[in-house]
Amino acid sequence: MKIERIELHQLNGRVAAPYKSSMQWKTHRGTVAVRVIADDGTYGWGETGGDARAIAEIATALIGKNPEHFGSIWQSIINPRYQSGGYGGLASKTASAIDIALQDLVGKSRGVPVYELLGGKVRDRVSTYATGLFYTEADLADPTWSGFLDEAQGYAEAGFPGMKMKIGGFTFAEDVDRVGALRRKVGDGVRIMVDANEAYDPMTAISMARRIADFDVTWFEEPTGSRSLEDNLLVTSRSPVPTAGGESASTRRDVAHLLGRRIFDIIQPEVVNVGGISELKLCADMAEAFNVRFFPHFFNTHISLAAILHTLATISQAPPAHPKEPFVNEPVTEFDQTSHPVREALTDPYFSQTDGYIDVPNAPGLGIEVNEDALDHFRQGDVVAVD
Ligand SMILES: [Mg+2]
Repeated sequence: MKIERIELHQLNGRVAAPYKSSMQWKTHRGTVAVRVIADDGTYGWGETGGDARAIAEIATALIGKNPEHFGSIWQSIINPRYQSGGYGGLASKTASAIDIALQDLVGKSRGVPVYELLGGKVRDRVSTYATGLFYTEADLADPTWSGFLDEAQGYAEAGFPGMKMKIGGFTFAEDVDRVGALRRKVGDGVRIMVDANEAYDPMTAISMARRIADFDVTWFEEPTGSRSLEDNLLVTSRSPVPTAGGESASTRRDVAHLLGRRIFDIIQPEVVNVGGISELKLCADMAEAFNVRFFPHFFNTHISLAAILHTLATISQAPPAHPKEPFVNEPVTEFDQTSHPVREALTDPYFSQTDGYIDVPNAPGLGIEVNEDALDHFRQGDVVAVD
């Protein structure tokens, strides 16, 4: 089998109503969907962020290679760009999309789910939590934040065992009040996570952690700039709330620094940034060895959610000696609930949770199909193809 053609679809859609993290308003959401097609017609899907043409330039060199050799193909993308940190960013994103697509392709070719390619599954479903609770235009005009609190109640009623809110977008005092308001709204039985998206300097982040610790916060995500390991180490060493980060890490090399120096209490590699399914699995195994909790980031479409589910289906309970408990020793995936028209239309199935768990798909490959109409509807410009 040989890789005959690679198609890249730059997809983008306007969200139902804009929403904001500490850093930026989201008016549109998108992805680059990547289809790798073999000479026997078998194909697989991957995705990542960024620019389809820049990714295509790197992917050109893969034409003619055996799609079953995803290990050597990964190295052929990353290693020539190793010097001067060139493996980060674009190269790592390209390797991510290609690795996900190749695993899907090879699984379909052999008639087995991706988790079989990874050594077999140890769980049939994966625990999850809701990501939402961004700042909205309605929030800015409503000092009672009724829309925010209604959204939270919806997640609790849907059976999510936890939910993650944004902080860093209002004043320090307002954000503390908002975390407290969420705790009062959902009661004691639901986990609350907060995500600052790098909003604070280390001292402000430590102050915030001390204030919100009263509200039983499960983790404090990206408290300060993610590229400064020293700043994050300082926060982690003084925060009464466990810290989390790593969503923008590229490959095992970035993750090794985060683990080896214990920069965060919880590590969150993103399958579309870190290097794909192969690399996510490797990072999970590394995290297990370091006794650092591993709860991957997710913010794209259900192509990458499927990739995460297959990976998490296979990783060890860590440590293995206790009852299985999500957020403690069982892995948990993020589950973005915000408006994302491309995500909502792109795949079949469109995953959902029941009682806080998402079932791992059992069909060959990733176990998803991509809706061609959605590709045509949301694509910006022509298909970018290399063959
Ligand atoms: Mg985050």
